[in-house]
This record gives sequence, structure tokens and C-alpha cells, in this order.
Amino acid sequence: MKPYTKEEFVSFNGTELFPGVVLVRPSVKKYLTSNSLLFVDEITLIVDSGFQHNTDQLMKVRKLFNPDILFFSHYHLDHTFGCHTFPDSRKIIHQIERDALTTSELFIQFCYNGSTIPNKELAFWNKRFQDFLNVENLSNWDDLHLNDVKTFKGNDIIDLGNFQLEIIHLPGHSPGHCGLYDPLSQILFIGDMEISSNFGPWYGWPNSDLPTFRKSVNTVIDFIETHEISRIISSHSREVTKEEGLILLRRFYSYFDIRKQQIFNYISYHNDGVTLKRIADQSLIYKGKKSNPSFVWESFELIHIEHHIKELISHNQILMEGNLIRKHD
Ligand SMILES: [Zn+2]
Ligand SMILES: [Zn+2]
Repeated sequence: MKPYTKEEFVSFNGTELFPGVVLVRPSVKKYLTSNSLLFVDEITLIVDSGFQHNTDQLMKVRKLFNPDILFFSHYHLDHTFGCHTFPDSRKIIHQIERDALTTSELFIQFCYNGSTIPNKELAFWNKRFQDFLNVENLSNWDDLHLNDVKTFKGNDIIDLGNFQLEIIHLPGHSPGHCGLYDPLSQILFIGDMEISSNFGPWYGWPNSDLPTFRKSVNTVIDFIETHEISRIISSHSREVTKEEGLILLRRFYSYFDIRKQQIFNYISYHNDGVTLKRIADQSLIYKGKKSNPSFVWESFELIHIEHHIKELISHNQILMEGNLIRKHD
């Protein structure tokens, strides 16, 4: 294990959870930030490189540890975008998501699951990506050095020396979304199962999958109930204990059913049928909160609703007639 002092990791806002395991929380919360989790061992690994908006945070981690491996929990930019800070690290991601990182075009196509992307949205995302790159003084996507990312499979084990990290494939939020468990420190990382926030599960891209996401939350609950767990770490908020984590995960799961019921009630109330757009306009997911520009969250709202419509149709609770959605008789 490489030696380090507590003063060193305090300097980049790190919290030692266990000897050799350091949680790095962004000191400034803005777009594209996420927690990083550092395992310092014979081989040093960092989980996720969400841009910290305070460049020295990740730069300090690099200077002190120069991690051998950068493990991406999934391809979303708030988990991968600071990766250029670690040019020497071997980058790894679940095999389903590797190609999405190679170009901005493949990235956005992957989000849309191969479906046609409205021109307005495509232009918006291209501009948005370029703006993100500019903030980082990068001229184009290639400067992220994401074209040589290696892959792993769900259930692989990463041997760091003392730490033997077990990968847990938890799809739904994204197809290759993965968590990690370390039996030595008994730390469980669950990525974007953001249990501490009041938003609930996020499945706002067409390549998110609602039934799979439900299954993954249950997988994590079962895992926690059957393993020794010291801390549960999610990507965007504080760490929690096993007991608190179980309560929060059950609450997190309940959002699926609350949203489903609200959508079903709304449809049931309108005997003549409603359009998808009209359901989305109720803002049951984002609860009236707006993004700038507004169509980004409106589009995410619509996609969340679409995932529920698909599920309600598969349960024979509703049906589609043309573009109208009605309760099943
Ligand atoms: Zn994500
Ligand atoms: Zn995230």
C-alpha cells in the first residue's frame, strides 16, 4: 500500500472510510460532478472521474496517487468527464458502454438507443458537449482520451492486492451501470442509485430501462441483507450505514410505484384518453422544476413517462389507440 497522510487527502476533500479507502466528494456541486472513491493498494484504483469544478481536486489525487486504474461506474458524463486528468490510468467500463465513449456522436446515439434524435436536440447536445470541453480547455472529444477504454463484465473481480473488488452489474439507470463491493472494508458502492436525494430513480434516456432498474434495486437490497456492509456510497451524496441504506433503498424503490400510480390515476381520470405529451405536462417527475433551456428536463420528463407507459401497457392496465392512451376496460 502506498503511504499517505490524512493531511494529504484532506487537501482534496477526501474522507478516509477505511485504511486505504478514501471518498472524494466534490467541494463545489455543479453539473458534471460526482463522488470518486479511491482504493489505495498495490494497485491503486479510482472509481469515476466526474469533473470536480475545482480542477485541483482530481489533480491532487493524480499527483499523490496517480491511480493505475480508473473504473467508470457507467458512461454518463458526470462520471467520466474528468478522465483527462488521469492520462496514464488504465480506464475500464462495462463492455456494453465502451463504444459510447469513443465519440460524442456515438455517445448521444447510445443515449437514444438507436432511435432517431430530433434535430433540435442533436444540435443542443453537440453544442453542450463542446461547451463542457471548452470549460476544461479541451478542443474536442478526442482530448478526453476515451478511445482506448478497456472493458469488464458484470461479476468480474478486480484484484488490487489487499482489496478484491467485486463488480455488481446494476443496469436500468444505464445499460452497463455497475456497483462495487469490497469484502475487506465492507464498503458497497451503488453509483447512481441516488438514495439520499429526494428525486428518486432517474431513467431519463431512452436506453434506461424501468423493469431492469427495479430488478437492480432489489438486487442491491438482497445484497445488503446478505452481506457484511460498513458503508454504502452513492455517487452524488453522503455515505450511509447499512441500516439507513436499507431504509433509503426501499424508499427509493417506492418512487417507481408512486410515479406509476400517479400516471395511471391521471390516465384513468380521462375516459377519452390522453396524449403522452399531456401526461408529461403534469410534471409528475420533475415536479414543476425547470431546466435552462427548459426542453432538456421536459424531454427527460417525457422519457420517464414513456418508460412507465410501456410498463403499464405490458401489465395490461392501459392501451394505446393512435396517439391516445386510455385505461384498459
Ligand atoms: Zn448516471
Ligand atoms: Zn450521476
